[in-house]
Amino acid sequence: MHRLSEEETSLLELVRGFARTEVAPAADHYERSHTFPRPLFDQLGSMDLTGLPFASAVGGSEVSYRTYLLVLEELSRGSLALGMGLSVHTLATWGIDTFATPEQRERFVPDMVAGHALGAYALSEPGSGSDAAAMITRARRDGEHYRLDGLKAWVTHGGVADRYLVMARTGDTGAKGISAFIVDADQPGMTVAPPESKMGLWSSPTAQLIFEDAPVPVDRLVGGEEGTGFRLAMASLDGGRLGIAACAVGLAQAALDVAVGYAGEREQFGRPIVEFQGVSFLLADMATRTEASRALLLSAADRRDHAAGVGPYAGVAGAGTGYPVTEVAAMSKLFATDATMQTTLDAVQVLGGAGYTTDYPAERYLREAKVLQILEGTNQIQRLVIGRQLADRSRGRR
Ligand SMILES: Cc1cc2nc3c(=O)[nH]c(=O)nc-3n(C[C@H](O)[C@H](O)[C@H](O)COP(=O)(O)OP(=O)(O)OC[C@H]3O[C@@H](n4cnc5c(N)ncnc54)[C@H](O)[C@@H]3O)c2cc1C
Repeated sequence: MHRLSEEETSLLELVRGFARTEVAPAADHYERSHTFPRPLFDQLGSMDLTGLPFASAVGGSEVSYRTYLLVLEELSRGSLALGMGLSVHTLATWGIDTFATPEQRERFVPDMVAGHALGAYALSEPGSGSDAAAMITRARRDGEHYRLDGLKAWVTHGGVADRYLVMARTGDTGAKGISAFIVDADQPGMTVAPPESKMGLWSSPTAQLIFEDAPVPVDRLVGGEEGTGFRLAMASLDGGRLGIAACAVGLAQAALDVAVGYAGEREQFGRPIVEFQGVSFLLADMATRTEASRALLLSAADRRDHAAGVGPYAGVAGAGTGYPVTEVAAMSKLFATDATMQTTLDAVQVLGGAGYTTDYPAERYLREAKVLQILEGTNQIQRLVIGRQLADRSRGRR
């Protein structure tokens, strides 16, 4: 594990200050008005935070994935909708940047990296969530276009995104028949359904995309080749799951901050409640889980950076070997989001009756934590991914 460089340290201080003074105070307003915090996302763009792990050739900052994840943590500590918004935006941008042709990269990536075009990732469908390869949305070749027909479900940023990365079926059943398309918000034949009414995360709209004979130009087929969409979707999720783990750590830290602050001030039986062992043990477990989640996340991030040979590993002997991160990314997402679920639940308990009211953010954190166990693969699916890797190893395949 590497130490943070001076630039990384000052970047994180900048983000922490921004999250504390501008993001956190506005989070409740955006939540209650069910409005995506686009002005805050635009500010991320002007602070050069929307293209952190991307190459300078497309306008990125070329920082390590580790640093990018620490930035996500700080932002999510202020607002999960904003932190997760950047994570999902990066998921879509990374998929396009990594699998695009050079022409597509030049045309579609720089404005996403600059934060001018907000990205979204459309894999799930009403009938295919965990079993994403069972999707039925069709893309039929028709001269210089593909005609898209079908429904994409649960799209984060649905209705507010400028650019969607859409997976659709160009071939028969199974993963090999899936392709990826770059679809802009003004695409004829595409409409966005009203946002889902959710338990939490209200300022992050989630909506269905409806495609009715939508003519998507052939030059928007990612990589210019049919059948690579599922590989793109899964490879993107390796990074995306680390992003969700970072968001979970930020949310857990926010819950811990509120609980510790309250426990130090609230008095019962003539003493601050933090002095009661029953409360301080809860806080100790919350802090331990959060630190353990962060440690696993950073270790996974280091493996990813080492595999890519970027950041502190650039030029280091043995780096850039492409060590698979699928397993550790799944572990990190699984552990951090389960830990955060418990930590946000405990935060409500520490605040007692106040924790059950909207006067404090603890109840919001609890509602928000739940979704992190579900999206980008439920935690059952993360266990399935880890279990499969172990089974492969037991058969000597890895
Ligand atoms: C707020 C929100 C935002 C989202 N954002 C996006 C987005 O931006 N883009 C996108 O493409 N999708 C998005 N999703 C969709 C999300 O990824 C899916 O909800 C998730 O993958 C689960 O799919 P499902 O809801 O269809 O549940 P199902 O797949 O129907 O699963 C139902 C239950 O069965 C379990 N299960 C299913 N299969 C197995 C198995 N083999 N073994 C054990 N248990 C199993 C699941 O774990 C779950 O508990 C979002 C979802 C939400 C709620």
